[in-house]
Amino acid sequence: MKKRIVVLGASGSVGSQTVDVLIQHQDLFEVVALAVGTRVNFLEDYLNKYPLEYGCVQYYEDYLRIKDKYPKTKFFFGDDGLISLTSLQDIDMVCNCLQGFVGLLPTLNAIEHKCDIAISNKESLVAAGSIVMDKAKLYKVRLIPVDSEHSAIFQTLRGNVRKDLKKLIITASGGAFRDLNREDLKNVTKEEALKHPRWKMGSKITIDSATMMNKGFEVIEAHVLFDIPYEQIEVIMHPESIVHSMTEYVDNTVIAQLGVTDMRLPIQYALTYPRRINNNSNVLSLTDLGTLTFKNPDFKRFPLLDLAYAVGYLDGNMPAILNGANEEAVELFLEDKISFLDIEKINFEVVRLGKEIYIENPTLDQIIESNDWAVKKVKEVLSKL
Ligand code: MG
Repeated sequence: MKKRIVVLGASGSVGSQTVDVLIQHQDLFEVVALAVGTRVNFLEDYLNKYPLEYGCVQYYEDYLRIKDKYPKTKFFFGDDGLISLTSLQDIDMVCNCLQGFVGLLPTLNAIEHKCDIAISNKESLVAAGSIVMDKAKLYKVRLIPVDSEHSAIFQTLRGNVRKDLKKLIITASGGAFRDLNREDLKNVTKEEALKHPRWKMGSKITIDSATMMNKGFEVIEAHVLFDIPYEQIEVIMHPESIVHSMTEYVDNTVIAQLGVTDMRLPIQYALTYPRRINNNSNVLSLTDLGTLTFKNPDFKRFPLLDLAYAVGYLDGNMPAILNGANEEAVELFLEDKISFLDIEKINFEVVRLGKEIYIENPTLDQIIESNDWAVKKVKEVLSKL
């Protein structure tokens, strides 16, 4: 029996690589539905080659056009369309490759429909971690991480007894500006920030990598996914991005997961877990590499990593506030409206203001309100910068 798969955010970086993996292994998987945003041509390219039961686009005009062009496929549109796709029966896995807070409601809806999720939408875990995980537990749904670091942790935890775990060690490449000092960072451009030295990714996460906000979010994501205190999560710099993360045990044994920097590997593992299957990725040659290097992160150089820990310790609605502020700040940077270092300033200031509306155990509505509050607050903060 083929696994029936829905892919949300299919035209994005992780999404399109997920579709790649699924096409490579058509003997194992059946793509039931693809959801895209504005890149409707991605969906059309797919439909010109393969059948699809369901499709979803962001805008109504695109929906009207595509539904007439491909009458054999049933189409949806907008946020409701994502809910329709995650409500389908007889689906084995939803791949949530959406970018940003918009991924939260589809994640929760898929859980309510008892569908396992390959999760690469980290914002939903950052903003609403305990709500998502509590619901997954309640509905006995598996969330399998796609983020390379969390996939590595997930893999190295296997075969060990959980109470023997001492800490998680998350590796960080350092992003596009890892060799620049604070002074250099004042004048970096969007184009420079979008050049990640190791991974090929979407624009938002590439900027988040350059600010190290991404690594900070990954710390929160690890706390959420693996239910481990922040004191037991360490970040170390590893520019080669070959060791994708590690787990350390009470006997001081450290288990690492290694591989070439190819997102299709953690994507594939989430799809085939617990099995491993052949693929056409490159083989890792440690002798060609010769050396792997590691060092401690400089929290003064990367203050957003520090902020993420602080926000993680505060918990409640604070991660949602940081997420909202950061999403909006990155958007403004990508629109050339603010400088690179303004992203940091905005995040720190919105979090500082956010403490006044702190909620220890927020409901889903309060999480959404907090995220929206932060998005709006960015404009106000910006006018004072
Ligand atoms: Mg990652």
